[in-house]
Amino acid sequence: MSNDSAFNPYSSAQAEFDRTADLIGLDGGARQLLRSPLREYHFNIPVKMDDGSVQVFPGYRIQHNDARGPCKGGVRFHPQETVNTVRALAMWMTWKCAVADLPLGGGKGGVICDPHNLSPREQELLCRGWVRQASSNVGPVRDIPAPDVMTNAQHMLWMLDEYEAITGGRYPGAFTGKPVGMGGSLGRTEATGYGVIYTLREALKEMDVKPEQTTASVQGFGNVAQHAIELYHRLGGKVVCVSCWDQQDETAYSYVKSDGVDLQELRSITDHFGGIDKAKATSLGYQVLPGDVWLSQEVDILIPAALENQITAESVQLIHDRVKFLAEGANGPTAPEADPILREKGVFVIPDFLANAGGVTCSYFEQVQSNMNYFWELSDVFSRLDVKMTSAFYAVYNLSQKREVSMRDAAYMLAIDRVAMSCRDRGWV
Ligand code: NAD
Repeated sequence: MSNDSAFNPYSSAQAEFDRTADLIGLDGGARQLLRSPLREYHFNIPVKMDDGSVQVFPGYRIQHNDARGPCKGGVRFHPQETVNTVRALAMWMTWKCAVADLPLGGGKGGVICDPHNLSPREQELLCRGWVRQASSNVGPVRDIPAPDVMTNAQHMLWMLDEYEAITGGRYPGAFTGKPVGMGGSLGRTEATGYGVIYTLREALKEMDVKPEQTTASVQGFGNVAQHAIELYHRLGGKVVCVSCWDQQDETAYSYVKSDGVDLQELRSITDHFGGIDKAKATSLGYQVLPGDVWLSQEVDILIPAALENQITAESVQLIHDRVKFLAEGANGPTAPEADPILREKGVFVIPDFLANAGGVTCSYFEQVQSNMNYFWELSDVFSRLDVKMTSAFYAVYNLSQKREVSMRDAAYMLAIDRVAMSCRDRGWV
């Protein structure tokens, strides 16, 4: 992984940290400790390729902070990964686990490779090779990896199997994101989207708005978006627009139905990448409009659930005056420059690392269930998820009220303060 990239996500994660550290008056020792990762492991993974040659892949595990509990975070396989991206993501996991009040710290890992060019056998060797390098520094009581960009449940099972072969026992809690029936948790698929709506439900309640009197527009129609829409519909809300990427046309479209989209109908014409069949949608009566139309809809609620950097200083101007809630399902959908404008417009923002923390919360549940080797019913998972998300929402909301700061600032303040306190209580700083 190279250190040099035009945009350095680690510098912006550190800038965000510095700003919050000033807001909460964080003292010198804690500030210095939390500004960068506690530990970094950089290694090379040799793989005997199918053609008999050997390729060496650079691999990483970065542990930002584990004062609140073992580190948690994904392992990505990506050809353009940089060590600074992994550092930023590890730091971000620390804040996300802290805001959700999970007894976990933050970590992230990666391998520079392109899985598209690797056979299943080569991918298996890469997973096993990663674990051979990292095994003494990860595990159920140290650091629990999970799937991330271009890694999946199968990769986690190969990694777990290698870890168990090395350690000589069964440790299903060493990795999460495993298939249901092989140590995975029920409800993980729904968890992120449902979590978005649990927090939205509470925001509406606080603002005295009845969900059944609201409409929403959603960017994306993948895992997060579909489950968010499912639960929002159950609360009585009406989604009038969804947008998604069209693989064939290499552009995004918005699908509008003013009397409300039919989730089952749309799902039936959507591929597993979250792409809607344009021709079928048209024949079902949807208006097919340009990709950014989702943002300018006259609705009460916007749910970006696709990509980062969608609401910028420019595009924020497209948002209709009626919009009063923004629930960030995606990671980083709002550029920092757009935040003050959203505030002026009076939009209640549920920031990404609070709104989409349902995913990591359910991964934590998977870890707990795996460690107990006892698995919960689906209804148990959802009710526990609701409790965690609701209490995370109120912890952030109450702080934002008390300190008269935005929800995003409050979420950062709460998270950083919790981690700093754990470091202090342990006597580290
Ligand atoms: P996904 O791959 O299942 O779906 C992505 C959706 O976005 C697809 O419908 C795709 O067509 C659409 N899309 C892509 N480019 C678009 C564009 N330019 N305009 C409109 N739509 C576009 O992904 P997902 O798992 O639903 O994740 C969505 C976001 O949520 C990402 O930012 C991800 O990091 C974040 N997130 C996901 C989880 C999770 O558990 N899946 C957890 C936390 C955060």
